[in-house]
Amino acid sequence: MVTDELAEDMNIKDIDNTGTAFSITASDILEFLFCPRFIYFQNYLDIPQHEEKRFKVQKGRTVHEDKASINPEYLRKKIGCIERKKAVYLSSEKGIRGIVDEVLFLNDGSAAPLDYKYAEYKDRTFRNHKYQLTFYARLIGEHYQVPVNRGYIIYTRSRNKLIEVSITQKMHGELDNIISNLLAVIQKGIYPKPTKYKARCSDCCYRNICEKVI
Ligand code: SF4
Repeated sequence: MVTDELAEDMNIKDIDNTGTAFSITASDILEFLFCPRFIYFQNYLDIPQHEEKRFKVQKGRTVHEDKASINPEYLRKKIGCIERKKAVYLSSEKGIRGIVDEVLFLNDGSAAPLDYKYAEYKDRTFRNHKYQLTFYARLIGEHYQVPVNRGYIIYTRSRNKLIEVSITQKMHGELDNIISNLLAVIQKGIYPKPTKYKARCSDCCYRNICEKVI
């Protein structure tokens, strides 16, 4: 996987992710998974990106206007949701923070993040979406002190299709790897490999300075 390769390449051993000297957001995770080098340009070199040229990962971002269309009765019947909180800002002393589209409290005593994607469902859940949910699950579990073993995504361009994603310990372990690798770039300026997927470079605002494409 990308993160394991990165860890090897970077010889990661001593990244400090226990304090509060940094604060990683879910967007950082999404961008890092899209292309680690993007994070280097944006967060380490601090080269501003032009909003109109933001690359494709941003197209999957939350679409606020679609949220009202999800019927609470539907969520109650379908997944046993008994309470929901919308647009919840959560932060952790462990250096992560984010705004969860919705926190769902379920009738089995657990909670779950619900994230809206302005995207079509393609018969599989994208890896970056899974780790974004894991990231939110960690924030929710820590803040509300409840088990969080699954999350939900609504794909608004597939008629609001609701997908359940199990959140496992293995995924938390992988999220730790992702965060460590991301910090290696942000804190130590380790220059990461480019994305393997050339199509991602076509819309990237850093394509004129990235040796991957120039
Ligand atoms: S041009 Fe491609 S490889 Fe370079 S930062 Fe952008 S997406 Fe990554």
